[in-house]
Amino acid sequence: MIIMKFGGTSVGGVERIQAAARLVKERFDRNPVVVTSAMSKITDLLIRGARLAVKRDPDSENVLREIRARHDRTVSELFPDGPMRERLTAHLALVLEELRTLYTGVGYLEELTSRSLDAISAVGERISCEILAAALTQNGVRAEAVDSRGLLVTDESFGKANPDMEETTRRARLKLLPIIETGGVPVLGGFIGATPQGVTTTLGRGGSDWTAAIFGAALNADEIQIWTDVDGMMTVDPRIVPRARVIPEVSADEAAELAYFGAKVLHPATIKPAIEKGIPVRILSSINPASKGTIVSGRPAAGSDGPCAIALKKGITIVLVSQPKMLMAHGFLARVFEVFDHHRTSVDLIATSEVSVSLTIDDPKPIPAVTADLSRLGEVRVLREMAIVSLVGRGFFRHAGLAGRLFHALREVNVTMISFGASDVNISFVVEERDAERAICTLHREFFEQERP
Ligand code: ADP
Ligand code: ASP
Ligand code: MG
Repeated sequence: MIIMKFGGTSVGGVERIQAAARLVKERFDRNPVVVTSAMSKITDLLIRGARLAVKRDPDSENVLREIRARHDRTVSELFPDGPMRERLTAHLALVLEELRTLYTGVGYLEELTSRSLDAISAVGERISCEILAAALTQNGVRAEAVDSRGLLVTDESFGKANPDMEETTRRARLKLLPIIETGGVPVLGGFIGATPQGVTTTLGRGGSDWTAAIFGAALNADEIQIWTDVDGMMTVDPRIVPRARVIPEVSADEAAELAYFGAKVLHPATIKPAIEKGIPVRILSSINPASKGTIVSGRPAAGSDGPCAIALKKGITIVLVSQPKMLMAHGFLARVFEVFDHHRTSVDLIATSEVSVSLTIDDPKPIPAVTADLSRLGEVRVLREMAIVSLVGRGFFRHAGLAGRLFHALREVNVTMISFGASDVNISFVVEERDAERAICTLHREFFEQERP
């Protein structure tokens, strides 16, 4: 059995949905279980609408209309008439009515909690799984849309919920195996789940990859296929550097590091459940299915040590705490970290000197509270609109001259912070956002567009 996960672009319109259905049909003999994202941009729209609705901004009506129009158009083009169209139209009406009620509700309360936002952002996947299942049926495959919220059980961390693997495994086997065993193809919405009490949750943005890995692990799949809009995991984001190359094989560690530091092609948490069970993850292109893609495996990839890719994460803030009296004072760093811990804020990179410490965070929300508390420990400075650029690979500690090549390549870029040595698979540094693309272009040229010395 295989898991086939389709991202937003891969189900973003009629042609893409039909192509996805064909890809599933061609692999029917491998017993596919399909996981789909919402149609591209729909989750963004749902969230935008919610932010307007809570302010009772009438523009939320326009957002609602746009969401309805996108789906209506897709359904009517896919199914000009017949029972499938009727069924989908009724489902759409029901879910969108619920969305309207949710928007009205947050408007009345003048409060948009993470719990409400999860109920709202789950709407995209609740619709897309029905559409893709119908398209598959139209292609002669007996597909069945299954609401993931009945199977994927999570805790109550709304907006970034964690799966209960034991209960999810039990439910997934109970519900999905009979469908597969009788020649059917289950189609599940990614990203969404529910608490044991049935309250809707989401796994966080980009979470459909994680759903694929969760069900892959639950069902002991032979392979998890992540079908997306690029040819695989590449040496750098191909939208920024068109000369990016596909990486045929990456280790789970490298993939996790790349995902964490911004290579959006894979959700950071995806690899874990799959790799723990020894299930290979393959990243494939639904636009160019002939491309071999990238295989992510538990063991280190074959070939020599060295850099394998560059990742970029924008929207980073640096918090710098200086305290001249920190000189030789023990406990200072512990107190700094206590503040971050208290505000449940995770830190990506750290650099320390005798009298100061710099830290990067990617969630801007807690910054005012964090800086207020930190100012009791020393002078605090905040630098916004920064970006982390990471060179990811293997065996960096054994690689003489790597740092030299890196600094030489970046000689014209203003580097604010560097982190090297925490692991031998990653060197990260921070630059201003406006310099980030230039930095990754030069690095790519240095490490991936010429013969290695
Ligand atoms: P999906 O909707 O299929 O989940 P995403 O938009 O989440 O797709 O991820 C695919 C996108 O990731 C690509 O369009 C590409 O712009 C971006 N990306 C960033 N870094 C990389 C990389 N190193 N290799 C491939 N794609 C990358
Ligand atoms: N639709 C969700 C998002 O846009 C989940 C996903 O696509 O993976 O974040
Ligand atoms: Mg994605």
